[in-house]
Amino acid sequence: MLDADIRAQLAQYLDLMEGDVLLKVSVGEDKVSREMASLVDELATMSSRIQVELVDLERTPSFSVNRPGEDTGITFAGIPLGHEFTSLVLALLQVSGRAPKVDDKVIKQVKDIKDTLHFESYISLSCQNCPEVVQALNLMSVLNPNITHTMIDGAAFKEEVESKNILAVPTVYLNGEPFTNGRKTIEEILAELGSGPDASEFADKDPFDVLVVGGGPAGASAAIYAARKGIRTGIVADRFGGQVLDTAAIENFISVTHTEGPKLAASLEEHVKEYNIDIMNLQRAKRLEKKDLIEIELENGAVLKSKSVILSTGASWRNIGVPGEAEFRNKGIAYCVHCDGPLFTGKKVAVVGGGNSGIEAAIDLAGYTEHVTVLEFNDQLKADSVLQERLRSLSNVTVVTNAQTKEITGTDVVNGVTYVERETGEEKHIEIAGIFIQIGLVPNTAWLGDSVERNKFGEIIVDNRGATNVPGVFAAGDCTDSPFKQIIISMGSGATASLAAVDYLVRN
Ligand SMILES: Cc1cc2nc3c(=O)[nH]c(=O)nc-3n(C[C@H](O)[C@H](O)[C@H](O)COP(=O)(O)OP(=O)(O)OC[C@H]3O[C@@H](n4cnc5c(N)ncnc54)[C@H](O)[C@@H]3O)c2cc1C
Repeated sequence: MLDADIRAQLAQYLDLMEGDVLLKVSVGEDKVSREMASLVDELATMSSRIQVELVDLERTPSFSVNRPGEDTGITFAGIPLGHEFTSLVLALLQVSGRAPKVDDKVIKQVKDIKDTLHFESYISLSCQNCPEVVQALNLMSVLNPNITHTMIDGAAFKEEVESKNILAVPTVYLNGEPFTNGRKTIEEILAELGSGPDASEFADKDPFDVLVVGGGPAGASAAIYAARKGIRTGIVADRFGGQVLDTAAIENFISVTHTEGPKLAASLEEHVKEYNIDIMNLQRAKRLEKKDLIEIELENGAVLKSKSVILSTGASWRNIGVPGEAEFRNKGIAYCVHCDGPLFTGKKVAVVGGGNSGIEAAIDLAGYTEHVTVLEFNDQLKADSVLQERLRSLSNVTVVTNAQTKEITGTDVVNGVTYVERETGEEKHIEIAGIFIQIGLVPNTAWLGDSVERNKFGEIIVDNRGATNVPGVFAAGDCTDSPFKQIIISMGSGATASLAAVDYLVRN
């Protein structure tokens, strides 16, 4: 079942187990059941600490990971290989008694939960965003006997996924009701449960020397450069890691030939934590005001004060702004092909946008969907010619240029898209099960209002030191008018803005 490399890796991890683990397995005669049975048997042959027992569980095939005599509530319905391999390893280690690498504060928050919570997370094995959610919910189950979690592979439980109209992964149900979608850290899940840190703890902080708003590559770099000067540094981030969290392979981060977004995001956080930086994660800024000090008001009402501020709030997927778009989000409208693409296997889909990301998405989708229609507003695609050539070599792709998307239709889920042929004005409708929107990004700067000068695209206007029009306020990365938006560029501009902020503090 496991190839030699995975077996070798697994053997090393299993050596770290601290106690016995009982795998309770529910299998039938189908192919996935046979594979699951062979996986758990193989695990048992690799470690004397693992025992296997055949049982009937709620779903077949599935297996639960328990301590002998004590069910933890962790169940894998489907085979946790692919991106979920780490989730399996961590479940085995943590159930065996190995301490998780999570802040004590978070562990206490989980242990303090009194309600009975049963989570079900619907995932796909090719989804990069899913393991973080699966691992967070598994850990919560290990820590608190009131909490249970079942990971459900959509490919193995197609009927269940279809009956619940799940068209985006990860999708999490709590006690049978939809709870949350998308990549979430354990802290974010706790916040959604209302068990996160108390907002008042941000209210009475002393003023910072440098306060960074945004926790992507630009913000992380800016905070590290400031903290290395020994000055009081804080970082407020809605979601630490930023866009990197949604990125699959990264091959242009110079000196690292290949990495994956979540891995880079974890390294960013680890590096920031090396320094004396006050990290305020899961907090959104909603107002900036320059008084004697610069004030940043958070959505929870707390007001942070700082002598200088570095704005690094990055960018988010751009919406098309047509009827149906808000209604069918996660119900057939998707942005992440690697995550949600497999849910449309064998179906017809559309991609809006003919730039590099749109065409890359279309090529990927053509590999397993029935048909892909690319809708491009302009009269030609903007993607690199090498991508266009590859696209045109595929028999199940139609490219429609000069097409203005008008409406996304559906009942419970998407069933079609209407577009206008711009040359003729004629309206066309195609039937599709899913639509991937790939029309670029918008800077996350609307919250600034008129406080800081921006260009017509909403990008913050900066000089070559990252300074904005407001003394003491600097900006870096994708939220600025920098012509190119890349990780390495964001990090460089974060460093520039930080050094300029320190210079500003020295001079003032
Ligand atoms: C799918 C995809 C693939 C990509 N692939 C690559 C690649 O291969 N190589 C490459 O170099 N680049 C790639 N990029 C681009 C790269 O990810 C960005 O250029 C880079 O992440 C920008 O960094 P940033 O710090 O400026 O912004 P972001 O990464 O967008 O981070 C912004 C941060 O600000 C926070 N934030 C936003 N609003 C607020 C608020 N109001 N209050 C508090 N915090 C807030 C966010 O939560 C986040 O922490 C890719 C982007 C995408 C979407």
